[in-house]
Amino acid sequence: MTWPAAPRRATALVALVTAALLSSAYAIGRTLAVDRSRQHAAEVAGGPNGPHYTDQPGSAATARGDRSAGSPEAGPDATATAGGGISGAQAVTGTRQVALTFDDGPDPRYTPQVLAVLRQFRVHATFCVVGENAQRYPELVQAIVADGHTLCNHSWNHNLSLSRRPPGEIRADLLRANAAIRAAVPDAPICWYRQPGGMWAYPVVSAAHELGMTPLHWSVDPADWQAPGAGRIAAVVIGNAEPGSVVLLHDGGGNRQGTVDALHRILPELTSRFELAALPVQSR
Ligand SMILES: [Zn+2]
Repeated sequence: MTWPAAPRRATALVALVTAALLSSAYAIGRTLAVDRSRQHAAEVAGGPNGPHYTDQPGSAATARGDRSAGSPEAGPDATATAGGGISGAQAVTGTRQVALTFDDGPDPRYTPQVLAVLRQFRVHATFCVVGENAQRYPELVQAIVADGHTLCNHSWNHNLSLSRRPPGEIRADLLRANAAIRAAVPDAPICWYRQPGGMWAYPVVSAAHELGMTPLHWSVDPADWQAPGAGRIAAVVIGNAEPGSVVLLHDGGGNRQGTVDALHRILPELTSRFELAALPVQSR
């Protein structure tokens, strides 16, 4: 379009800038509020069956992944960039392949079930493991790698506000998680890092890059961490997957039986429509 006159253009620019500032302030306030509530949830989580992590309705990807359900975080602060990234994190595979990712494990109740169904459908995936869980269950990390899946660092203990810690502390957290993984599988590459809760900020993005890991977000999120039921999880994944999708699922951090059951519906459908592949180990 063409602007008829300079004064009108100036007025329009002022209006645009004002609108942008207002929406940014709104978005920042909302993000902080959500973050606080999550942090509280993280603090009260936990129990006799191990840690219960609170994930993960991160940003625009949730809205993109589940268009029928409004996300409290979908907004102008969370628009995916042209490259599919969120605040510097990769959100798509970059090819036509679809990648399934499993966060918050390994977990002795669910990881073996996830591995079994993946094996049944000959699908390779990527496991975003929490360092303290890798330390507790090294045999499960070994089983993941033995089946041909790839690994992603998901921090030492799922600290949602890790990005607010000093750079040295962030780096130490990521290194501690990598050390726990490497204690189990010394030669397995760890090329990806996923920030808990998708709470990306420059400090964690930077630390991941420095340590040779690509920040990894997602583009399809059925919010399985909320245990909405296998039917709902399967419907959202099947309804929203497209070439290049990175699908966020969980094999740990709580009761994940719904996710396991959903895989029995998801995998026949997705393998018929897409090539499913683990995220590559040579990501940089
Ligand atoms: Zn997580």
